[in-house]
Amino acid sequence: MRIIADLHTHTVASTHAYSTVLENAEYATKAGLAAVAITDHTPASTDGPHIWHFHNLPKALPRELLGVKLIFGAESSITDYEGHIDFPHEECEKLDWIIASIHRDKLAKASPDEITKLYSAVAENPDVNMIGHCATTGYEFDYEKCLKKFKEFNKIVEINESSITWKNTSGNYREIIRICKKYEIPVAVNSDAHFCGLIGKTERAFALLEEQDFPEKLIINSDWERLREFIDSGKGNIL
Ligand SMILES: [Zn+2]
Ligand SMILES: [Zn+2]
Repeated sequence: MRIIADLHTHTVASTHAYSTVLENAEYATKAGLAAVAITDHTPASTDGPHIWHFHNLPKALPRELLGVKLIFGAESSITDYEGHIDFPHEECEKLDWIIASIHRDKLAKASPDEITKLYSAVAENPDVNMIGHCATTGYEFDYEKCLKKFKEFNKIVEINESSITWKNTSGNYREIIRICKKYEIPVAVNSDAHFCGLIGKTERAFALLEEQDFPEKLIINSDWERLREFIDSGKGNIL
């Protein structure tokens, strides 16, 4: 199993990331990817760029660079238990791909009941395409209830390589993967690369999926037609 698109990467526009769009595209080509999403943090984030970064993405950048399709997106932070994110609806509408993630600087640790309420509400947020790194420790929730709700509202569950590597989330991901398999909940496997050399590298995520013999048909970014169908059903004619 392998991915054909990395749907979560950062550039120097997020100050704790270290590569340019051109470098990301170059390494995406080297990794054999057909597409890469540029998903920097939102302006409200501690290290996010100015809003003009997002306004200019579709104007300044080509749709294809070095043979790789560029997907223009953002990684937003979830800000409350009502499922709001720190990126306004009118901005989300202008981009192809919106990730909603919990980040420690924007949301204090909370009880599993509170996080369950939060993700139940995020599931219903029409601006969100993918739930980023939801295995984060300290933010556990009722996985079965919320993951089923993500499927119901067409939200993709991310299996995030960086989170497994740096945040010790393998245990939580094992449980998330078990439930996604049981209820046929679609996932995306991404690097969340903060450096171009890590783009497309998702070995640890795939090892966890393979442990449980996870069906390849549920990984939206392991097949071009499957990915195109999902993305184009949302914003239309991107891929
Ligand atoms: Zn994140
Ligand atoms: Zn990220």
